[in-house]
Amino acid sequence: MPPTRTVRLRLLPTTPQERKLHRLANTAAKAWNEVNYLRRRQFFAKQGVDLRGTYNEIYNRYRRILAPAALQQILNKNNEAWLGFFALLAKLNAGELPPHVKKVSPPGYWKDRLLGRRVKRLVVRSDRYYVEPVNGGEGYIVLKDFGMRVRYAGRIKWSGKQGRLEIVYERGRWFAYLTVEVGAQPPAGNPKGYVRGTYDRIQIKQPKGDKKAFIDIGINNLFAAVIEGSDRAILIKGTPLKAEYFWWKRQKALYQGVRDVRRNLGLPWQSWHRRYLRALWRMRERLRHYRNTAVRGLAEVLWESGVSEVYVGYPEDIAHDQQNEYVVNVWGYKKLVQRLTEVLAEYGIKLYAADEHSTSKTCSICGEIHENGRVHRGLYVCKRFNVALNADINAARNIAANLGFKTPAPKKIEAYYPTSNGLTPKRGNGRDPHSAAPAL
Ligand SMILES: [Zn+2]
Repeated sequence: MPPTRTVRLRLLPTTPQERKLHRLANTAAKAWNEVNYLRRRQFFAKQGVDLRGTYNEIYNRYRRILAPAALQQILNKNNEAWLGFFALLAKLNAGELPPHVKKVSPPGYWKDRLLGRRVKRLVVRSDRYYVEPVNGGEGYIVLKDFGMRVRYAGRIKWSGKQGRLEIVYERGRWFAYLTVEVGAQPPAGNPKGYVRGTYDRIQIKQPKGDKKAFIDIGINNLFAAVIEGSDRAILIKGTPLKAEYFWWKRQKALYQGVRDVRRNLGLPWQSWHRRYLRALWRMRERLRHYRNTAVRGLAEVLWESGVSEVYVGYPEDIAHDQQNEYVVNVWGYKKLVQRLTEVLAEYGIKLYAADEHSTSKTCSICGEIHENGRVHRGLYVCKRFNVALNADINAARNIAANLGFKTPAPKKIEAYYPTSNGLTPKRGNGRDPHSAAPAL
């Protein structure tokens, strides 16, 4: 199956179009909430959830208000959410989920619980819309069921067969998310179902060489990479993400706190709740941006270094460390690796997940496990030869060793910070003295 990517476009509806979008999305949310209510009620009454019966009930209730194709998409999406929930539940009961996952919840409502305002979202089937680019940065999306032709802004990176389209209202703006099967042709019955973007294949660049890189994923260093036959080690610092996360976390707690106090006192609290929601949204956006910058920056550096294969370790100590909410919220190992896999593919670089066995505890110099080898400030000390090296680079070297490859011995470290503007090379600012120290 061809790889799928999501394209995000900003929609710029006219005023009457916007009014119509609000109305339609509101109805869609109502349909979602009603079907979800029926299902939740059955679930909590332990009656067994009748997906088909509830589907038909809501379908019949709404089919005159919302275009049937659009209505089906909402109900199908709710079906998918429930099936996903059942699958998780089964895994939970079989003890197959990570230990920090104690419970899973049934699908929620498209609604803000406190303000009672609906979440506005429309789902459009792949053959019920088409995209008309005007030039590289703008065009129109034609929504057949709603009789609308809405202007969009944004570059479409990928060409291929279009999938489902979601139209979402976020912080006062409308966005379109469309999935594209990159390079695939549309079905014969829907020749217009082809999105024309910049690239019709995922791989945009050719690898410059055939080196292997070994990467440890962590918190203080989001990525620590050593490269076969290279005297450089690469660190992509995680500190900006961490700072960003904790800053927004404080903002959220503040707004939430004021909101709750005012609510309890019977004072107007709604504006504080809105601030809280805005903070939540901005936090998500900022973190996503930083993560993407880090991933793309790493891919670029690896490509420049002639890498064609990457081995990423599964960080056992981090993943199992449930006390760290930061890890769960920001760092999402799976998501990060998936994103890395996707971006590396654009550079023709393959990613393999490696079993990271004791890579953080073992000494990559002598192969022993030194008691308390990992010391303060991200250093690992070899007790036998009395040398200190960056702990994450130690782990990355161990990934190579565990796989039976020659362990790269970097002589210098290049550290980069993800910023809102791409990666910047780190200059000594005294915040992390050891990252500038020789690697070995
Ligand atoms: Zn040692």
